[in-house]
Amino acid sequence: MHETMVAESILRTIIEQAEQVNAKPISAIISCGQFNTLNDEVMSFAFETAAAGTICEKMTLEIKHIPLRATCKQCQTIFEFDVSKPHCAACESSDYVFQPDAPLLLETIEFEE
Ligand SMILES: [Zn+2]
Repeated sequence: MHETMVAESILRTIIEQAEQVNAKPISAIISCGQFNTLNDEVMSFAFETAAAGTICEKMTLEIKHIPLRATCKQCQTIFEFDVSKPHCAACESSDYVFQPDAPLLLETIEFEE
């Protein structure tokens, strides 16, 4: 499962950083785009399972979903793409190009004081 692999990879990164600063991580924020999106519940469970017995046990993981953006070719407006309204938010043109999807990113890790 996608989430399990992501959880294990994120966990490895957090453990490495925790060892560098010699502190216990308490929370982390990750962000993902729309094409490589993560299911919050599955991800939380996968992370909890992977973190059991490590320095990351009991830490919280927040998942931010970054919307897909598109640029209108008519009026150059950059808008958040909504599948139920697939047109430019400003001029309603359906002539637009998608911007690159947000990558999966470990944004911040908070450590215990
Ligand atoms: Zn437009």
